[in-house]
Amino acid sequence: MATFYVSNMPKHSFSNRLLKWHAKNPRPHPWKKTKDPYHIWISEIILQQTKVEAGTPYYLRFVKSFPNVTALAAASLDEVYALWSGLGYYSRARNLHESAKRIVTEFDGIFPTTYEDILSLKGVGPYTAAAISSFAFDLPTAVLDGNVKRVIARHHGFEKDVMTQASSKELTQILEQDYFDPKNPSSFNQAIMDFGAILCKPKQPNCIQCPVSKDCFALKKNKTTTLPVRKASIKRKDRYFHYIVLRTETHALFKKRESKDIWQHLYDFPLLETTEKGTLPTPTITSFVNEMAEVSFKEDDLRITGPKSQLLSHQRIIARFYSLYLTDLDMFNIEGLHLFELKNSSNFAVPKIIDLYLKDKSLYLFS
Ligand code: SF4
Repeated sequence: MATFYVSNMPKHSFSNRLLKWHAKNPRPHPWKKTKDPYHIWISEIILQQTKVEAGTPYYLRFVKSFPNVTALAAASLDEVYALWSGLGYYSRARNLHESAKRIVTEFDGIFPTTYEDILSLKGVGPYTAAAISSFAFDLPTAVLDGNVKRVIARHHGFEKDVMTQASSKELTQILEQDYFDPKNPSSFNQAIMDFGAILCKPKQPNCIQCPVSKDCFALKKNKTTTLPVRKASIKRKDRYFHYIVLRTETHALFKKRESKDIWQHLYDFPLLETTEKGTLPTPTITSFVNEMAEVSFKEDDLRITGPKSQLLSHQRIIARFYSLYLTDLDMFNIEGLHLFELKNSSNFAVPKIIDLYLKDKSLYLFS
């Protein structure tokens, strides 16, 4: 059993000190200025797997293009994906789009106002539902994100692995019983998340300036570097992708991913997948290309770049790009291939690894 150091802490004392600190140290993000649940929803979904700095321009572009749930529901999935391009984890965009359509049909276009209804939206888990409920509607729901887990583990003395579901349940109970301020749900949730990001950071927490240091378990027991405990690690499968990029100086042939694999509905290039790492021999590329169209080329015509890698939640994609520069691509007028101008690549959605290839200046793109 974990040893809980904080047992007699007055319930509001932590909250009072935290809120006072937060009043002097707010983090001004664009979505904090609003109570609009739609805007808060978009920001929370973006921030699920993206850091604030990287996510902010996407948030601003997204709410500018789709200012309300009706506008998002009326858009095509391709339009939504195009705005999401480069952000990764496209299932988030797909879920937003599906949920927007559901809000229009089942909730008359009005964003749901209860925790349970918000939780029923696709892509919204307990943490996101609690955040939207408190920020938009001031419902007394405590948010337990990674920052909050760290703060509670250190301050309270929670010494079990914080990555398990059982721990999340236990931490939620501790948070609700000993820390959460139901009279100020929105301010408390925002303050504790910002506190975790600014002071009680993963590495080198700033305990000297900490407003709740006097009753912090980790500080007293010299455990600020060992808490929180994280044991459960994700096992990822390696996949080796070999992209055959049939291109001219200005255009390339793309393929829309239709199968029920990763990156469904996004665009990448004709692909060979292997289970072993290493570069493919030229004859393999030649026969792959010739299955699509008769083209003769020499080894020197191929330009091989990579490997580039992209981490997904349960997979690691290691990609090599075999660029074949041709004077024209007319012979590849076949179903499933789409000829796009490379300088317009931001208009269609591609996986991050393809985005990296397209932004590689050494490939003389956009000339
Ligand atoms: S004293 Fe340090 S470890 Fe404890 S809550 Fe404050 S910043 Fe975090």
